[in-house]
Amino acid sequence: MSASKWESDEEIQYFREYLRIPSVHPDPDYEPCLAFLRGQAKQLNLPIAVYYPANDLNPVAILTWEGLEPELPSILLNSHMDVVPVFPENWTHPPFGADIDEEGRIFARGTQDMKCVGMQYLAAIRALKRSGARFKRTIHISFVADEEMGGRYGMRPFVTTDDFRALNVGFGMDEGLASPGEDIPLFYAERAVWRVYFHISGTAGHGSLLLPNTAGEKLNYIVGKMMEFRKVQVQRLQNNPELVIGDVTTINLTKVSGGVQSNVVPPLLMVCFDCRLALDLDHQEFEEKLHKWCDDVGGGIEITYEQKQPKVPPTAIDDSNPFWLAFKKATDELKLSIKPQIFTGGTDSRYIRQVGIPALGFSPMNNTPVLLHDHDEFLQADTYLRGVEIFKKIISSVANV
Ligand SMILES: [Zn+2]
Repeated sequence: MSASKWESDEEIQYFREYLRIPSVHPDPDYEPCLAFLRGQAKQLNLPIAVYYPANDLNPVAILTWEGLEPELPSILLNSHMDVVPVFPENWTHPPFGADIDEEGRIFARGTQDMKCVGMQYLAAIRALKRSGARFKRTIHISFVADEEMGGRYGMRPFVTTDDFRALNVGFGMDEGLASPGEDIPLFYAERAVWRVYFHISGTAGHGSLLLPNTAGEKLNYIVGKMMEFRKVQVQRLQNNPELVIGDVTTINLTKVSGGVQSNVVPPLLMVCFDCRLALDLDHQEFEEKLHKWCDDVGGGIEITYEQKQPKVPPTAIDDSNPFWLAFKKATDELKLSIKPQIFTGGTDSRYIRQVGIPALGFSPMNNTPVLLHDHDEFLQADTYLRGVEIFKKIISSVANV
């Protein structure tokens, strides 16, 4: 019964409507999202444009609120429409039901990652428009596809298009993370993801011999070197309480394959590592190190990459970035405790930064357990509505820079 005060709230209603659209991997259908967003655009009296940067299954929808000085670089408020798969048997509420319990917790996939933020942008804009506000800069609110698969068909190709360049974006905002305490994390950079495969060839033969240069010996050497490197990073993290995981390079062995038969020394073994290169790591030096280890153990090893992201400079969080100052001013006035840091995983922000545009990752969800990609993902309704107020202030500030 007590959930009714939230159920009757207009913005909670829109949020729940959006959550009920199962835009879920592996085969998300974005058409219902587009239909919903077209309805929102109409209600907000804003134009909406839909682009397809990769293929006709993966749209990018953009609502635009023109500024008083539309020639100025614009503000991009980005969110992704797709959500990760669910295992309904592990949920206490239907994952696309958007149930509200008596504590006001809204349960659905996407409540935290990140249908919340997309709808909070629109809710903030709705309130600002109703109050008669206008801003210097044009504001684009973008809804992209495929973020959960690395943005292959979404933001990654979109930033390279003329359509994107025509938006003339000067500053972008995108997702952050929930936090269980009072602090709200603010992400200004991401590590570079490298998925490194070592294809190790060696002397093949009978398992009863002691042949030289076997693939197994080389595999042992490479794994040892990678694990030594990993250990140094573990120690850095342990020895310095100031550091968080995003500050160091992470290395994890994720796949091993090869072999022919249990009594045959194989001609080829493969080992794969997931590497997240910290901002302080020289990419070229790291790559040279990998090759040197291959040479040191006798060669015959080919390195390939499933992913090899370039070094992307962080967004400045100092006086040199007027958008940061505007963001900070807004959050200071709201007395929020903002904790700038480097993102652990990857988001679409990296593609925005990669084309030279400053971008901040921010989801105003403090005092909230971190449940992205987890069962029973939820967001408390008052936290959601508080986030709308926070975005009203931030948008007003950054759009008037
Ligand atoms: Zn996300």
